Amino acid sequence: MSLPKVVTRFAPSPTGFLHIGGARTALFNWYFAKHMALKGHDSAFLLRVEDTDKARSTDEATQAILEGLDWLGLSYDGEIVYQSQNVGDHVKTAKAMLASGTAYKCYCNAEELESLRAASETAFRSPWRDKVETTDRPFTVRFRVPDGKTKITDLVQGDITWENENFDDLVLLRADGSPTYMLAVVVDDHNMGVTHVIRGDDHLINAGRQTQIYRAMDWRVPHWAHVPLIHGPDGKKLSKRHGSLGVDAYRDLGYLPGGLRNYLLKLGWAHGDMEIFFNEDAAKVFTLDGINSAPARLDFDKMDFINSQHILHTPNDELLSKAAPFFETKNGAPLSAEKQARVASAMDSLKPRSKTFVEMAAQAAYLLADRPLTISGKTAKPFKNDQTLDYLRTLTSRLNVLEDTQWTENKVQDILTTFVEDHGIGFGKIGQPVRAALTAGAPSPDLSLVISLLGKAETLGRIEDVLSGASLNKNSSIE
Ligand code: GLU
Repeated sequence: MSLPKVVTRFAPSPTGFLHIGGARTALFNWYFAKHMALKGHDSAFLLRVEDTDKARSTDEATQAILEGLDWLGLSYDGEIVYQSQNVGDHVKTAKAMLASGTAYKCYCNAEELESLRAASETAFRSPWRDKVETTDRPFTVRFRVPDGKTKITDLVQGDITWENENFDDLVLLRADGSPTYMLAVVVDDHNMGVTHVIRGDDHLINAGRQTQIYRAMDWRVPHWAHVPLIHGPDGKKLSKRHGSLGVDAYRDLGYLPGGLRNYLLKLGWAHGDMEIFFNEDAAKVFTLDGINSAPARLDFDKMDFINSQHILHTPNDELLSKAAPFFETKNGAPLSAEKQARVASAMDSLKPRSKTFVEMAAQAAYLLADRPLTISGKTAKPFKNDQTLDYLRTLTSRLNVLEDTQWTENKVQDILTTFVEDHGIGFGKIGQPVRAALTAGAPSPDLSLVISLLGKAETLGRIEDVLSGASLNKNSSIE
């Protein structure tokens, strides 16, 4: 016997960028579909753009959402469903409900509705609910909330029961014939064969209302899983004041798609103590019972840590191409072939020092700098000492002996070690000025590595710039 088909969906309203909350919803749906596929179910993750609110929906927002999903690597199955194209089905369903008596025509105008609401302390029931006569006035189609209770078993929140008397007879079709969200979402989910609705718990009460509509149509009610919203580090509802909220901002801050995916996955979902998930590994273990029923808090340090692990795990050539725009920004222009080669050979040393590509570019600044560097302030201080300048001249002549092909970290280290031994000085006496000459104080790894990565010509050139004064800021040298 084959296992039941599992269909999940992400149903964003295209009114803005892809918010990290929405991205996490999409991610959970995507992983769940993948997990069920691994378990042998036929499964799909569908995308529906809920563009029925024409006043607020824009093509740009749709584009931004698609780009965000694409960057995150969340690929959907089949064609995108645009809700606005399904209006015919929505209307047909409302008519079927009118015919079965689970919905009715309400002829109240706005003023009447207002005074009815003002006079009533209970959920809204229209006086037209039980009338048989009709008029020529415009009407809305309202749902006839049944008596009794509505119970759902939410896969995250557990059993929830509502008293139906607390639900309004909500509008399904507006007076202009357009469907409301509540009707459209049920009809579309039904027609798309959605079996699991995984979404933010701001929709929890809608699950109660939607369950009533499914039952009125005698349709199979999907499984519900309402995921608690993301809160800021301060525990308050997420807002702009908490910083970057769009997926695109994380891309621009230099996070890897896999790193952000891993972080969003961990934000409100757990599998034991496992923290790091590469590629699609999480699909093996992603079940809905791992979703926490309490709100998750954003934790930027955790995010940096997770991303740093993904940087370490990513092959160098992939990092080079993904980080290229960040290096280019730091460099202020496309990288020359020489700089590209420098950065490529430095990648092993850049990786463990970078939590994001922005940090990686900052760590690579010394490799990207153009001669003459600008060395100033405290960093330029050692060059006021004649002894130091002498040391630099001697060291230059010793390094000069190495052929380009011998210019390795070990050989350079040997020369430095012998140099300090011969002069009976501590390493700092030569290390500090050489580092200053080569990096102008920018972050850098071990000195012998810096020298080997810069190469012979660039290293000796940068030291020469100090000896000639070309890289020394005039103000600081008079200081
Ligand atoms: N379009 C709705 C939203 O963006 C989601 C509807 C749903 O998931 O049922 O909030």
